[in-house]
Amino acid sequence: MGRYAAPATLRDAAGQSRGDRSEGVNERPEAAYATMRTYGDTNHGVLTELHRTSEGSIALSVDRSDMTPPAPSRAQRRIDPNLLFRTLILSATQNRLVKRTMRRHGMRLGAGRFVAGETIEACVETLRALEAAGLHTNTTLLGEHVEDAEAARGVASTYLEVLDRIAGEGLKTNLAVKLTHLGLDDGETLAAENIERIVAHAAKRSNFIRIDMEESERVASTLRIYRRLRERGHTNVGTVLQAYLYRTENDFAELLPLAPNLRLVKGAYLEPESVAYPRKSDVDAQFKRLIERALLGAGHTAVATHDDAIIEHTITFAAQHGISNDRFEFQMLFGVRPQRQLELVERGFKVLVATPYGPDWYLYLMRRLAERPANLTFMLRNAFRR
Ligand SMILES: Cc1cc2nc3c(=O)[nH]c(=O)nc-3n(C[C@H](O)[C@H](O)[C@H](O)COP(=O)(O)OP(=O)(O)OC[C@H]3O[C@@H](n4cnc5c(N)ncnc54)[C@H](O)[C@@H]3O)c2cc1C
Repeated sequence: MGRYAAPATLRDAAGQSRGDRSEGVNERPEAAYATMRTYGDTNHGVLTELHRTSEGSIALSVDRSDMTPPAPSRAQRRIDPNLLFRTLILSATQNRLVKRTMRRHGMRLGAGRFVAGETIEACVETLRALEAAGLHTNTTLLGEHVEDAEAARGVASTYLEVLDRIAGEGLKTNLAVKLTHLGLDDGETLAAENIERIVAHAAKRSNFIRIDMEESERVASTLRIYRRLRERGHTNVGTVLQAYLYRTENDFAELLPLAPNLRLVKGAYLEPESVAYPRKSDVDAQFKRLIERALLGAGHTAVATHDDAIIEHTITFAAQHGISNDRFEFQMLFGVRPQRQLELVERGFKVLVATPYGPDWYLYLMRRLAERPANLTFMLRNAFRR
């Protein structure tokens, strides 16, 4: 952390991401400085280079024997280096040596750029700095796939304490929760009871709960639980749809009558071609379609991406259709594109920074590394620095 010079002011920070510098502005300098120092910088252009060279992408032969979706064309059977990189990293997450090494050295190597500490105390400090910079936040106790029902109930109880702590601190932070962390793998009923406890407690605290979306085999149960909460009268809850899944278009259509609060994402897991678009361009196209339909429908839309093309598409589409800024928001991850986050705030958009904490950061970190080669380079560089 802190490898790059921190901009002195909020407007400087936004200016850097546009490639210009605004001098002499002095808006909440301490807050901006603290935030940028916490984040570090992420724009070192490696991905842009990779994109340029990816014109002639790597060709892989793909076994399509049991595919149900439309057969891909020859061009579609080529995958780009980004996808290959992502597949390799996500496949390595279960490797015992990788796991042991990352767990032992990950924080020292820079996991702290993506995780707001291992304790709620550390996280609260970060949340405060982000809020002071004009950003909205949510937090998550990192973890998934608990041992047993008792552990899952324990996680739910911790979340109730976190809600109390957020209220006590006077923060506006929401929660984002994974159902596997609340016992989904031990039964849908258990996870449903646990999330309902959290949602009900959040309502008393005027707070909002987002149910994250996990691997494709958990999508149906996650959506059933979300629907059930809404049917039982809970309105302070939303969920997530992943643009890479073929099924998402139907899921979206079924949820629309609920005027849902939806976070739309590309999708972060390693999914087979039988359920998810293998090509980034198809994922991006479906992402844009979903955003447009969500903005035209009722409900609130959170566009969660760091992708400039998607962000600008959202802004242009909303402007063209007279959709006001309070009908949607952008969401980004803590540690990723901080200047862009601040620039969007300056342009008058709501930006929420997902700011997780907790000792079980391993899987979360591996997904961040898989998303961007530069993130892995960042950690490797730290490994060789004294
Ligand atoms: C708030 C939030 C919540 C999420 N929740 C879920 C969830 O519940 N379930 C789930 O499956 N996934 C979730 N995700 C992850 C998501 O599915 C993607 O894996 C992740 O956001 C990466 O995709 P992307 O849209 O940012 O764009 P990518 O396709 O990763 O990147 C597109 C472009 O964005 C730009 N870019 C990306 N990162 C940087 C950077 N560091 N610096 C400069 N430029 C950059 C580059 O131009 C790049 O080409 C969430 C993501 C966010 C932000």
